[in-house]
Order: sequence, then structure tokens, then C-alpha cells
Amino acid sequence: MAWWKRGKSESVAETVAAAERAAGMPLIRLEGVSRVFKGDANGAEEETCALDNVTLDIERGQYVSVSGPSGCGKSTFLSVLALLDSPTSGRYYFNGRRVDQLSAGEKARVRNVDVGLIFQSFNLIGDMTVYENIEYPLTLRGVAGDERRARVEAALARVGLTARAKQRPGSLSGGHQQLVAIARAIAGRPPIVLADEPTGNLDSKSGEAVMQMLDELHAGGATICLATHNPDYIARTERKVHLFDGRVVDHLPA
Ligand code: ADP
Repeated sequence: MAWWKRGKSESVAETVAAAERAAGMPLIRLEGVSRVFKGDANGAEEETCALDNVTLDIERGQYVSVSGPSGCGKSTFLSVLALLDSPTSGRYYFNGRRVDQLSAGEKARVRNVDVGLIFQSFNLIGDMTVYENIEYPLTLRGVAGDERRARVEAALARVGLTARAKQRPGSLSGGHQQLVAIARAIAGRPPIVLADEPTGNLDSKSGEAVMQMLDELHAGGATICLATHNPDYIARTERKVHLFDGRVVDHLPA
């Protein structure tokens, strides 16, 4: 077969194979994933096993909480899922594709398209407006202008912050800033939302507003993975993963 035909049919075959894998596999599959840090923040030599041989599937549409005492590995777990950090050993499949060995650029692409990140510290850009913060990741992805506008406006309306579109994040309350971070995640329409203690810096009323948005996203079909200490919030999730010393010690369905 001529090389150009062979190349084409192989790439079609690869695409079909990837789609078949994705159809048969959970959204997230971790196989024996460990993350060992060499040295601690004080420069000591000792190793810390932040994740210890974690094997876990997360199905599409599941609402999962990740809990456990401080230092048990929750943030590391979410960072690995978000492709912000890489396992030291083990395999990570996202949507049927092995992703732990991708290059930094490829990981960034997967993260930008497929992962909505909501962190305790909001991670908003201070010298952009609320509107621009929500729009920016869509611009990076090459979403066309009209589509961007429609998505940003819909996301702002969804979190009730349309009137704040032109403000800078620093002029908003913590609760509203977190809702902007959620609007940014909503506008990206990612298959999974990863939330790391998203209510950690908020009063209980603002925290409840954030949790309601997560509930609604889940009801709309999104897969959500929420790291939290709060027993009331854990109780709202349909699957509860407990970590201790980097190991999954319990994972209960609803
Ligand atoms: P949690 O989010 O549950 O509080 P983390 O994932 O932040 O837990 O941390 C798990 C363990 O890994 C802790 O012992 C922590 O000190 C250690 N750790 C996390 N990040 C680093 C790092 N960059 N360097 C060294 N140790 C780290």
C-alpha cells in the first residue's frame, strides 16, 4: 500500500481504536498510581509518599468526594487528575487514553479542554475583568468570538453575576470570586470538574452557594471530584473516597 494511504488508514484506525477504548472505559482510571516527593519543604532528605499505589475508577457523571485528614494526599490526588502533577509510578487513563506520559504541552491541552479547575484560592487573573477571566481559557482554545460571548454570558447568568461582568475580581467578595471561578469552569464545558476545598476560604452562606452550583453541574451530567473536610458536603456526594497516608482506605458508593 502507498505510504500516504497507509498513513491515513492507520490514523483512522487509531482514532477508531481510541474511541472504542473511551467507550468501554471509565472517564478516569488510575492503576497503581504513586506520587513520591523527594525532600520536604524544609529541605530535609526524606521521601514523602503523597499517593501510595492508588487504583480507582471514576465513571462519567459521578459526584465523588475525596476526604481525609490534612496531609493525606487530597491535593496531590486532584493535581494528578488535573495533569498538573505526574505520578512517579502507575498509569493514568483519561477518557480511555493514557495521559501520564504525555508531554507538558499535550497535558496542558487536555487540561484546558477537558478539566474545569476550582481551587480554594480562586486562581483568577487580577488585572482582567470578571468577563475576561471567564473568556480567557476559551480564547486560548480558539473558540470563535460569537460562541465565546454566548458561553460567557450564559455562565455569568448561571452564577448570578451578570451585573459584575466589568468588575475586577479583587473588588468582589470571596464568595463571588469563587462563583467567577465556577463560571469559568462552566463556560469551558469540561467533562470533569475538579474542586479542591472550594469553600475553604468562604463563610457558610457563600460556601452553600458554591455547593449548590456544584450540585447543579452534577445534575446537568458533569463528573465532579470534590476534595473537602466538611462532613455535610461529603454527605451530598454519591461516592465517598477516603484517603489516609496517600492510600485509598475506603470508597463507598451512595
Ligand atoms: P492534603 O491535600 O490532604 O492536605 P497533600 O496532597 O497536600 O495533602 O500532601 C500530601 C503529603 O505530601 C503531605 O505529607 C505533604 O507534606 C506532602 N507534599 C505535598 N506536596 C509536596 C511537595 N511539593 N514537596 C514535598 N512534599 C509535598
